[in-house]
Parts: sequence; C-alpha cells; structure tokens
Amino acid sequence: MLLISCPNCGPRDETEFHYGGQAHVAYPENPDALTDRQWAEYLFYRDNTKGAFAERWVHSTGCRQWFNMLRDTVSYDIQAIYKMGEPRPGMERAVVNTTAATTPEGARK
Ligand SMILES: [Zn+2]
Repeated sequence: MLLISCPNCGPRDETEFHYGGQAHVAYPENPDALTDRQWAEYLFYRDNTKGAFAERWVHSTGCRQWFNMLRDTVSYDIQAIYKMGEPRPGMERAVVNTTAATTPEGARK
C-alpha cells in the first residue's frame, strides 16, 4: 500500500487516488495533420519504463485535483510529487524533447 502525499491535502492512503497514465504526453498541436499511425501512437503508445516514471494521479475521494508523480516502477518508491504543468523534476530538457517528439513533422514551420 502506498502512502501518497497529495499536494493539496497531505499524506493519504493509496485507495483515495486513481492512476491516470503517463504524464507529459502533449496533445498534438495540429491533430488534423497527423497520419492515422501518428494519431494512434498519440492515443495508445506509452513508455514502459523500468525505473523512474512520471505519472498522472487524481485524488478522487479528496480534493479531486490532478497532479504528477515521479515513481520508480520497480520499487514503487515515490521520488517526487509535483503539480500539473510543472516540468518533471530534473528532466526539464527531456520534457521539451517529449513534446517535440509528438509533434507531426513540418508543424513547426
Ligand atoms: Zn487532495
């Protein structure tokens, strides 16, 4: 059982939260320009990281606010909890690269 520290409410039992998938998956700037494959990759393809992984969580039975968590997928150690919109701790540059990777080619011309 995890003890999750909600940024608004403080430490609470894991049963009060719901997992929301991988964090920092940017919505495409121009979805109409995507091929079917690119759209499918945006919708369904996620990293399957062994180790530190940035995830979205919602405090569903508390403040009902979403936040991000950096959690080790092997040990379940919670390494950081941070608000939506904030960069992944220690990976500010990687967040920019992730956003660029989901942008269709030519969209930034
Ligand atoms: Zn909360």
